[in-house]
Amino acid sequence: MAATLQIPTNPLTPKSFGAASNPPSTIVEARQSAILAIQSIEGLALQHGMLPVTLLRESCSPDAERLIRKLGRVPYVADPWLPVSTIGPLLVMAHHNPRAGDLWGVPHFFTIRVLITQEQYQNTRKDLVQRFGQMPISQSNAMEQLQPPVFSDLGLDGTFQWLLEHYPYEPAEITKLKGFYDAQKGKAESLGITHFNVVQRNMGIALQHLVSGCRTLVYSATEAQRQSFFPIPLLERHNVYPLYIGKQVVFLLSESSDCYAFEDEWLSMGNPAVKIVPVLADLASIREAINRAGATFDPSAVATIEGAALSVADDASVVEISPEDMGRINPQNPNHEPEQLVQWALFTAIRCRASDLHLEKFYSFTRFRARMDGTMKTIMTAPESQLNRYVALLKNYAGMSQNRQECQDGRMALSIGRRRVDVRVAAVPTRREFQKVIMRFLDKQDGVKRLSDFNLSQRQIDILTRTMQRDQGLVLVTGPTGSGKTTTLYALLNSVNDESVNIQTIEDPIEYEIEGINQTQTNNARGLDFANGLRALLRADPDIILIGESRDAETAGAAVNASLTGHLVLTTLHANDSLRAVSRLLSMGVEKYLLADSLALSQAQRLARRLCSYCKQPMQAPQDVQDLLAKQAVISQPLTTPIYTARGCDECHGTGYSGRVALMELCEVNNELRDLVEEGAPLSAMRAAAFKNGFRSLYQEGLQQVIGGHTSLDEIKCLSYTAM
Ligand SMILES: [Zn+2]
Repeated sequence: MAATLQIPTNPLTPKSFGAASNPPSTIVEARQSAILAIQSIEGLALQHGMLPVTLLRESCSPDAERLIRKLGRVPYVADPWLPVSTIGPLLVMAHHNPRAGDLWGVPHFFTIRVLITQEQYQNTRKDLVQRFGQMPISQSNAMEQLQPPVFSDLGLDGTFQWLLEHYPYEPAEITKLKGFYDAQKGKAESLGITHFNVVQRNMGIALQHLVSGCRTLVYSATEAQRQSFFPIPLLERHNVYPLYIGKQVVFLLSESSDCYAFEDEWLSMGNPAVKIVPVLADLASIREAINRAGATFDPSAVATIEGAALSVADDASVVEISPEDMGRINPQNPNHEPEQLVQWALFTAIRCRASDLHLEKFYSFTRFRARMDGTMKTIMTAPESQLNRYVALLKNYAGMSQNRQECQDGRMALSIGRRRVDVRVAAVPTRREFQKVIMRFLDKQDGVKRLSDFNLSQRQIDILTRTMQRDQGLVLVTGPTGSGKTTTLYALLNSVNDESVNIQTIEDPIEYEIEGINQTQTNNARGLDFANGLRALLRADPDIILIGESRDAETAGAAVNASLTGHLVLTTLHANDSLRAVSRLLSMGVEKYLLADSLALSQAQRLARRLCSYCKQPMQAPQDVQDLLAKQAVISQPLTTPIYTARGCDECHGTGYSGRVALMELCEVNNELRDLVEEGAPLSAMRAAAFKNGFRSLYQEGLQQVIGGHTSLDEIKCLSYTAM
């Protein structure tokens, strides 16, 4: 159905949503809408206890579309509230008129209503008319008559239980939510907002909204606009982010309702007083918004510059970088010192959440390239003549000698505002006495992921939980460098990290420091390697052991032995997939019968780029894709939900992707597989047995993430060799 500009004759025809808007029918209405038009959305919001919002995208987010199709029906008026985004189970609906009516039949307590400008309303509406014209929404809604209980009597916990019973969750979602709920319940007697935010992103604040009788203002910081009003270090210190900066007040996203410390510091910096309205938000999303706000660089600034004299920092161990100073640097300006530009490159790479930064010669240029979400991107270029100055500066920071002929390793720490980032630095000689410097960022602040941060299926969660509860056994994690193995291992360790277990690790390097876990760093100079480190560590009576890498026969053998003597041992290995890891261990000289007895789980992992949630494009899966999905057994009937393709917007620097998703192939060892390992059966026999047991290959896991809308078919093409 095309969007037509007709005026609805019968307000109950679903088609009425195609019309522009109801003309005011009386003089009173005309006057009212005139008053509304001149009143700012800020004033209206304050008057009606709602939030004023500037939408990041003038359309309905994929999550919100999924939710409105589930919770709603076609709107009965031409200017209904518009679904725009989600907060946990709740649907954010936007309008320019706080008194507007139609919520598409979504029970009002499942919505969070926000105010937007007339212009944003019209643009968003246009997008929705087109979207729902292509794929119509159902005409009735069984949920419409749902009566809410008194949420304030139920409390957070009771409200959560009520949702499990009455909210239209899929069975798989319920099992997943219950699983994460039980895990939190094991840690604390009574669960607060933060605990529920761990159960599901934004769940805690959504529950608080319901319990407060919809009086607590809540919002998601990932939907907040970039801002330059408050300095980022100030926001970082207080974990707050402005949602809306108005003429009279600032709506401030915060983990708590108390923002006095922030106001105090803002005033003490000599700024005029601002009135703050606190808006409750998930801390994780606030931190993301702060990071995103700083993560800007202008690709047009990648050009030539002429630097000045070499200067070297006095303190070689910790390099202080001031975010305020960096904000004033324009890499195109020829008047900056080389040191400022080097610091700007480091700063920009970290702000853009790069994992590595390379400094190298490229034709007649010096360039800094950063690896963001797995892809290299040039962030700064300078004339060739600057290369040696930059290399010298970085080597000096890392305490390395200025020798140009040898490969060197070093380390440095960057202090950026409140944040500290450790950097591993490697220098390698290249042609004609040039050098290349490779820096890897070990960011302590990004911290340890939780299992609920991965998009895991119920089967995956069950296997991982079951495995981590074992009192002995061997867990193998395989994958190429940079496939997120360490992140997964830390998440696994952290899922069982409490005072009742003794967790010991031996690592190279220690990438994150985790409270409650005893971490040891290998030290070749003092003869402490993985194998003898493990021997020493066994004397410390550990329950769970992490061995950073089993790279030789001695370590592999020691790991297997430890896993047979009352320890759960986790280690990584270089192998292409989970079953090849078994052959790899055997070829390293581990006895078949020992491996058969000890192996609990073999996991293979890859990272695929995550589609940018601000610009990904929905499309109906075409027939060839439907066929592929059916052939790979990831669907049993035609897929009706859309899949997504990459487009590109400001938020993702035009790439269409932002962040990454982990694909995990999990092979749990059952009796049949155990027998096959012991017999030394061929890979094909083991694969067949695994598939019989519900095993899914990396490619199948990738396709599942495509169906879930997290990544694109292009991203997982390279994994098709692991297909069934
Ligand atoms: Zn984007």
